[in-house]
Amino acid sequence: MSDKYFNPIDNPFNNSLITWYSSAKRDLPWRNTKDPYKIWLSEIILQQTRIEQGMPYYNRFVEHYPTVHDLANANQQEVLKLWEGLGYYSRARNLHATAQYVSQELDGQFPNSYAGLVKLKGIGPYTAAAIASFSFDEPVPVIDGNVFRFVSRYFGIKEDIADAKNRKHFEKVLNEVISKENPSDFNQGIMEFGATVCTPANPSCNECVFQSTCYAFAKNEQSNLPVKSKKVKVKDQSIYYTVYEHAGNTIMKQRTESIWNGLFEFHSVVNDKPIDHETLLPQVPLSNTGEIKEIVGPVKHLLSHRRLWVHFIHIELEKPEDLKQLSKELGLTIYSWEEVLTLPRPKVIVNHLQRAVF
Ligand code: SF4
Repeated sequence: MSDKYFNPIDNPFNNSLITWYSSAKRDLPWRNTKDPYKIWLSEIILQQTRIEQGMPYYNRFVEHYPTVHDLANANQQEVLKLWEGLGYYSRARNLHATAQYVSQELDGQFPNSYAGLVKLKGIGPYTAAAIASFSFDEPVPVIDGNVFRFVSRYFGIKEDIADAKNRKHFEKVLNEVISKENPSDFNQGIMEFGATVCTPANPSCNECVFQSTCYAFAKNEQSNLPVKSKKVKVKDQSIYYTVYEHAGNTIMKQRTESIWNGLFEFHSVVNDKPIDHETLLPQVPLSNTGEIKEIVGPVKHLLSHRRLWVHFIHIELEKPEDLKQLSKELGLTIYSWEEVLTLPRPKVIVNHLQRAVF
């Protein structure tokens, strides 16, 4: 790296970035506010989600809960229902818990510094930096995947970004170049640049305002940077849901385990490996007396550490007592299909029920 990037009087990186951002920035609702509540909402929703996909969720949350007090006073099931389809449901639970903390303990006022924000539940270094700089103009750099990539290529940083301790190298560089006058536009600009110009595959180097001083471009190393070694170990799991039905009713239960905690699902048999029907059906209560209408699957569903292979066994029960007895034995609750639509459910179940005809 050369000192030319860090000249404090003429900071070419900072100047080019803010000039670029002022002409390229997209008009998004959370960019027209300094309200830390709305900025926080947008950042939590947009983690791991594309802007186009996250926008309707953001609009729905702001409409239902215009202030942090409104979100705090909602019940958790309602919040999970609004979050349905976004995945990473622990974020929705943390969102709700933090809203209650800010509403009740802090009188609705978010801490106005990075140090205060990062102590809140579900707010990590990235989100704290985003809120501190966008809302309170604190010059603290945001570092997300887009920023890692762009900064690694431009400055030629070859430390492994999968290793958390290397974050400090990126922070050091960004702390030197971040605009002290306009950290909000600097941070929004750097994320936007990584997302739209310095993209993972085929970065737009020919239209890039940083081309003449970019390390990766000069060395033709765009595809080697950033260095990211660690691969997440993904575990396969097969889930067999039984969708019992009688006269427009079914049975479901609310999960209390880590993944999908708080969401509703059908009775299930879970195994690390696929199970053939001869072995599976004896484990499914009433599969011999009810009528098996269809068996659907496997439907592949990816989570961050798991690859799920989901099956649905539809069983129509003859007698209402059967549904009542099953609900008692299995600890599930009887719901009509109309009620099921109001429950927060994992996306794989939502998708399946949209396709299924009852
Ligand atoms: S020249 Fe290419 S690799 Fe370098 S910052 Fe621009 S888009 Fe990224």
